[in-house]
Amino acid sequence: MSEQFHQFLADESATVAFGNTLSSLVAQGVVIYLYGDLGAGKTTLTRGIVQGFGHKGKVKSPTYTLVEPYELPEVNIYHFDLYRLADPEELEFMGIRDYFDDKAVCILEWPSKGEGVIPRADLKITLEYTGEAREISIDAQTERGADVVTKLKGNA
Ligand code: ADP
Ligand code: MG
Repeated sequence: MSEQFHQFLADESATVAFGNTLSSLVAQGVVIYLYGDLGAGKTTLTRGIVQGFGHKGKVKSPTYTLVEPYELPEVNIYHFDLYRLADPEELEFMGIRDYFDDKAVCILEWPSKGEGVIPRADLKITLEYTGEAREISIDAQTERGADVVTKLKGNA
């Protein structure tokens, strides 16, 4: 599965708009890993996805709570930020497996901190600084992920 997609994101609003687009392409049950340095735009992209599914309010970083749930009419979205996770075992204690069902969309910042405990990704997304702007790279890891990348290429 080596489907890949890259796009330049000129500013924050471009990243939010791209998240909106992604929300229209991902199926329920998808697992998305977000990579990139602090401030690269992972939470901003998540805001675009979550609001794309109809959430009207804020999307804040769940750094201290580890997970922020969005229970929306169409789908439950779980936004994880594992930056402060000391030990992947903590995830077992919080019952992480219950979040990953066929109907949920799970988005994880700092997935490397949960290695061995979190389910595998359908999409691995990396945000990188290019000056003031960002570049997004999307790697499909499963058939379900490849389907999203194919559609993104069709849109571009
Ligand atoms: P992360 O979750 O990766 O730590 P955030 O999304 O919280 O990052 O923050 C990204 C910061 O970078 C915001 O302050 C945002 O305004 C700024 N920014 C500048 N350009 C972009 C861009 N193209 N996409 C996303 N954020 C951008
Ligand atoms: Mg963040």
